[in-house]
Amino acid sequence: MMPVLFIGHGHPLNAIQRNEFTTALNQAAADLPRPDAILVVSAHWLSRNDVAVSAAERPETIYDFGPFHPDLLRITYSAPGAPRQADRVADLVTAPAVRVDRRRGLDHGAWTVLLHLFPTADIPVFQISIDVAQPPRFHYDLARRLLPLRSEGVMIVGSGNIVHNLRRIDWEDVNAPTEDWARAFDETVKDLVLTSRHQDLIEYGRLEFAEAAVPTSDHYLPLLYSISLQQPGEFAEFFYEGFQYANISMRCFRIG
Ligand code: ZN
Repeated sequence: MMPVLFIGHGHPLNAIQRNEFTTALNQAAADLPRPDAILVVSAHWLSRNDVAVSAAERPETIYDFGPFHPDLLRITYSAPGAPRQADRVADLVTAPAVRVDRRRGLDHGAWTVLLHLFPTADIPVFQISIDVAQPPRFHYDLARRLLPLRSEGVMIVGSGNIVHNLRRIDWEDVNAPTEDWARAFDETVKDLVLTSRHQDLIEYGRLEFAEAAVPTSDHYLPLLYSISLQQPGEFAEFFYEGFQYANISMRCFRIG
């Protein structure tokens, strides 16, 4: 079975930087098997009362962020799409029915990390949207339906951030000190992932500091997709932990 990843993607600038985080991605990638396709569940493809899967033959690179740096706009991640595997997702997930979107490209939650994991961009990539109108349990259950893909050569990658609060980010300083609540929440989630306490992770709103760490669900929900695909006997292995811009948790792990 293909491993499953969770990547804390953080600031788009990581795409063009070399730092501890991107080095950890390079190193983790060296240990990964080569998948036939990659399915990314990104915090940057959100939908409402709709679940879509992208099936473009040649997905375009989407620059879905502010004017951070002109070099970011010169990057293209030119991996082919995976329309066959996208159709397979639509077969596997029938309630709710999944809409096959044959035009959607790759958002920065996908390509800024794939650049470091699979820089040759020759493995087909596709995405599934996150229906933010639905409760956390919906996402965990939906991800379960994707399990057969792991045996069919598809690497599933959740891309979000365990702690992500736009009001508590220091945009000026990547090394700004991290606040205690952010570290505490990140550690709590780490422990729950390590001990496979999935119900507590689904009910993350009850955890201490959840309000500050997860003010909106978009960057947390990809984590539920990743843990949901964990099988008996598999454990999470953290290959990066740390913070950027004060309080963005860049924690990453691999299962399987
Ligand atoms: Zn993001």
